[in-house]
Amino acid sequence: MSTRLFERVALIGVGLIGSSLARVLRRDSPRTAIAACARSVQTLETVRRFGLADETSDDPAASVAGADLVVIATPLSAYADIARRIAPALRDGAIVTDVGSVKGAAIAALRPALPDRIHFVPGHPVAGTEHSGPEAGFAELFQDRWCILTPPPGTAPEAVAKITALWERAGMRVVTMEAEHHDKVLAVTSHLPHLIAYTIVGTATELGQDLQSEVVAFSAGGFRDFTRIAASDPVMWRDIFLENREAVLELLQRFSEDLTALQRAIRRGDGETLHKWFTRTRAIRRSIIEAKQA
Ligand code: NAP
Repeated sequence: MSTRLFERVALIGVGLIGSSLARVLRRDSPRTAIAACARSVQTLETVRRFGLADETSDDPAASVAGADLVVIATPLSAYADIARRIAPALRDGAIVTDVGSVKGAAIAALRPALPDRIHFVPGHPVAGTEHSGPEAGFAELFQDRWCILTPPPGTAPEAVAKITALWERAGMRVVTMEAEHHDKVLAVTSHLPHLIAYTIVGTATELGQDLQSEVVAFSAGGFRDFTRIAASDPVMWRDIFLENREAVLELLQRFSEDLTALQRAIRRGDGETLHKWFTRTRAIRRSIIEAKQA
């Protein structure tokens, strides 16, 4: 077994992501103590039932006391308040990281409140499912996925190296980039696809009752894949669109133009344009499969 990276880990938020990390630590680092924090009695009870933490609390300051690693894994809208509450209780030299899906906003919410005597290494394990809560987590969630770290300039390299090792041990490939770049990339690969799925599924539910039942019956035609994405957590995704507004709006403009171009091709019976477009997108799917990210 590899050496222990952290003595005591505080998980602020133990839903899909936080509980999956807890499971990884339980599996690979049983001597690491875990303190878990959530708001609700039910969540904390579930965490205890699965044996995912040594201590549970609804007070983030109590959970971070003595921890050499703090992982913030709540929805983004809770970040600023959590940072304010944990700041005075953080151990000197502790590393604070997070898993939020928008990095510019995560840094803006956390950094001002965090003291200089700790290290801050923002991160985003790009792995997930449409399920939420501690029951939904599993240790293999991160396997062969990418984790993006966005340490602000001047972050201690040792702290970045430790967070890199944490996610590598969870099976991830780790890359470092600027927060702004991360937010643009994720707007393309994750945020826009979710917005499109939410739109399509919303539109279908507005259709008449008869058609709706047929939509469900014949959903294997493509609609079903959108419904899976559109089943993702409403709070998390509300926060993502509010916090990555500029990148998403810019991309949406491009998307609308492309959609209009395809609309025009259909109206004009321009099969060549459609065929060319679909051939190119099919190749992209192949490259994702080859990169083992399908
Ligand atoms: P989740 O399953 O809904 O879990 C959220 C957790 O945060 C719950 O334990 C919740 O506790 C807790 N929480 C919420 N507000 C809190 C507060 N004010 N104080 C303390 N705990 C609080 O969410 P998730 O899917 O794990 O997502 C967590 C973060 O990971 C988000 O920032 C998201 O952007 C990011 N992320 C998600 C995915 C994904 O696919 N899901 C992928 C990568 C990154 P209660 O249950 O008691 O409310």
